[in-house]
Amino acid sequence: MILGAGYGGLVTAIKLEENAKDLEDVEIVLVDRNDYHQYLHLSYEIVTNVKKVSDLTIPLSELLGKRKIRFFQATVREIGFANKVVRTNRGDLPYDELVIALGSEPNYFNIRGAKEHSFCVSSVEDAARIRDELRKVFARDKDAKIVVGGGGFTGVELTGEIVDEFKSCVTVVEASNTLLQSWDIPEFSSKVARLLTEMGAKLILGRRIVEVKSDAVVLEDGSQIESSLFIWAGGVQGCRVTSASGLKTGKDNRVIINEYCEAVSFPGVYVIGDSALVVDSKTGEALPQCIEITLQQADVVARNLFADVAGGERTVFVPKFGGLILTVGEGYGIGRIFGVDVEGRLAQMVKRIIHLRYVYQITGLVKVLKDIF
Ligand SMILES: Cc1cc2nc3c(=O)[nH]c(=O)nc-3n(C[C@H](O)[C@H](O)[C@H](O)COP(=O)(O)OP(=O)(O)OC[C@H]3O[C@@H](n4cnc5c(N)ncnc54)[C@H](O)[C@@H]3O)c2cc1C
Repeated sequence: MILGAGYGGLVTAIKLEENAKDLEDVEIVLVDRNDYHQYLHLSYEIVTNVKKVSDLTIPLSELLGKRKIRFFQATVREIGFANKVVRTNRGDLPYDELVIALGSEPNYFNIRGAKEHSFCVSSVEDAARIRDELRKVFARDKDAKIVVGGGGFTGVELTGEIVDEFKSCVTVVEASNTLLQSWDIPEFSSKVARLLTEMGAKLILGRRIVEVKSDAVVLEDGSQIESSLFIWAGGVQGCRVTSASGLKTGKDNRVIINEYCEAVSFPGVYVIGDSALVVDSKTGEALPQCIEITLQQADVVARNLFADVAGGERTVFVPKFGGLILTVGEGYGIGRIFGVDVEGRLAQMVKRIIHLRYVYQITGLVKVLKDIF
């Protein structure tokens, strides 16, 4: 049983089905609350109306086709590891082998009012809600104040898109002294800060948000920023259904896993993607939640599940993080891929090629060609 049909769960199911084709008594069950897979990393394009929700969602019935994978649409509420049962809004599902790939959710760090008064981009539907709200807010007042909490990847990309599309001022509030602090490439951070400022965004760095109200954001020094719309991009954490079920978690509520991608506190249960805490084997530092690492885990877990049921050696997971590319507005990208810096239109092209690689892994060549032409 595989929980979640995002990048991790879907690719695990597809690869396992390919490996286990000849095994008669294996049933693969894929569970998700939605009956579609979403290209989460392109959600910003919905905010700025470049893409529609339907462009970034693919029905699972289309993706799974004739594959021997049973899809069950349900919301997972709880997992009972001791008696091997997944509790959902549509009843209990017993399992023999389990993969958890339920992704992440916003982390509001207990900031007062943040959850109640903010929008965030955790799904393509969230992105559509932000798009609709931006239109409403600007229809009421063309000088509406948009505030983005968090100057990491999501905050920066979202700000670039909004400033580009709505030609309006967005204020970014970031607790650390630089944008993109977790990226740890200072020259990129300062370049991006300069560019966003030139585009019209206002940056407030080194000050923490302590409260979010319906019409203002309060900072730690007591000052208030007027806000017609507040978007929270200040952090994510592993899906709480997983941690609430009792697995041992570390940084950002992500499940601590062993070298086979099993939960250390419950070997036999695999956890992958944003829900898992993946560390760089050289530095011991947590790696960012990203599609590349998720797909690598999906490949290893599909092999290990096959070994569990058919016998054979299990595969050790060694993450290989190639890097990330960030886009700012329509015309600019920047990133470091396998040690090589790329910038401008070239960076955007590389990002597009990376996207097509994901599409290929999920849908095969036909969809890639459709995507290109
Ligand atoms: C706005 C945004 C931009 C991003 N940009 C990039 C990028 O440029 N590059 C990059 O590498 N990564 C990017 N990421 C991160 C990337 O999307 C994640 O790392 C990746 O999706 C993780 O895969 P996953 O399978 O763990 O989770 P997901 O792909 O999120 O899949 C989780 C699945 O679980 C389902 N689910 C969740 N809870 C339940 C429940 N209780 N019951 C049933 N189903 C449930 C969801 O519907 C979903 O289908 C971005 C993420 C966001 C939000």
